[in-house]
Amino acid sequence: MRFDEILGQERVLSIIQSCLKNKRFSGAYLFSGPEAIGKKMAAKITAAALNCQDEFNPPCGSCSSCLKIQKDEHPDLHIIQNGQAQIKIEDIRGILRQANLRPYEGKAAVFIIDNAHKLNTEAANSLLKVLEEPPANVAIILITHKPQSIIKTVLSRCRMVKFACLPRVRLEEVLAKNYALDKATAHFLAYYAEGRLGLALRLKDEPLLQEKNKIYDDFLSAKPLDRNITGQSKEQLHTALNILASWFRDVYLIKAGISEQEAINVDRQTDLLKAAGQYSYKQLDEIIWSIGESALYLEKNINSKLLVHNLGAQLWKA
Ligand SMILES: [Zn+2]
Repeated sequence: MRFDEILGQERVLSIIQSCLKNKRFSGAYLFSGPEAIGKKMAAKITAAALNCQDEFNPPCGSCSSCLKIQKDEHPDLHIIQNGQAQIKIEDIRGILRQANLRPYEGKAAVFIIDNAHKLNTEAANSLLKVLEEPPANVAIILITHKPQSIIKTVLSRCRMVKFACLPRVRLEEVLAKNYALDKATAHFLAYYAEGRLGLALRLKDEPLLQEKNKIYDDFLSAKPLDRNITGQSKEQLHTALNILASWFRDVYLIKAGISEQEAINVDRQTDLLKAAGQYSYKQLDEIIWSIGESALYLEKNINSKLLVHNLGAQLWKA
């Protein structure tokens, strides 16, 4: 667990590292930026750096403190992550209590609040108390991809650290070089993930990704989609819908004249060009809209078989 493992975020990491070096990393921080680009990993590495036993080159990644932080087993690292659920006052009370105690065994207590936009008003207000006057040796790191959903009083008490996506061409290089992916896969993942390294790495091992061309082929030969993508989990169906959406976005953009290299599915240029000639802008608009609607319905747990059937009917109508 070292800072140089977070690729493409050199600018923000240099800010964090310079604060750490000058022993000025304390109080409240807000790590913001798109999902899956390394914010939480950076927060954990910061926690490791603050507690590392190697004074000269923290985090060393190998002392007992670094190893405990890596495994989320360090008593001075407190991570609040409720997924998509609200963060309530009960979740924050622990912070208020522990922040006023001395660190158990490390040098600093670090509180990471993931998806901080999920703090409800009551929880956010109670957090203000500790943000206003953070005790010494306490760092509170809020993580979010929706800073606009956090109340202003909380925002104004945090130092902002903004993470950004990598340029897609750069991510393609990173995936090819550091993860030994072939050119076509690296290109697809980099463009599909829109420059988000974490997302690209997560998708790299998805079985549906290997089936993306099969999804397109079935679609192009007008076979029912049902065979491929129902019976899958909600997440897999969601990925399949996104893959299909990426196809139509490509068709739309190629029709509008972008360079073919900018397409996500650059390995299917011939089919994309053919499709661009087949569909009108209006039809493409409708299809992309339908896929988006289906993804929304999926979130609401509408019967997935019915959903794919309806989407299929819409796709082949065009
Ligand atoms: Zn260490």
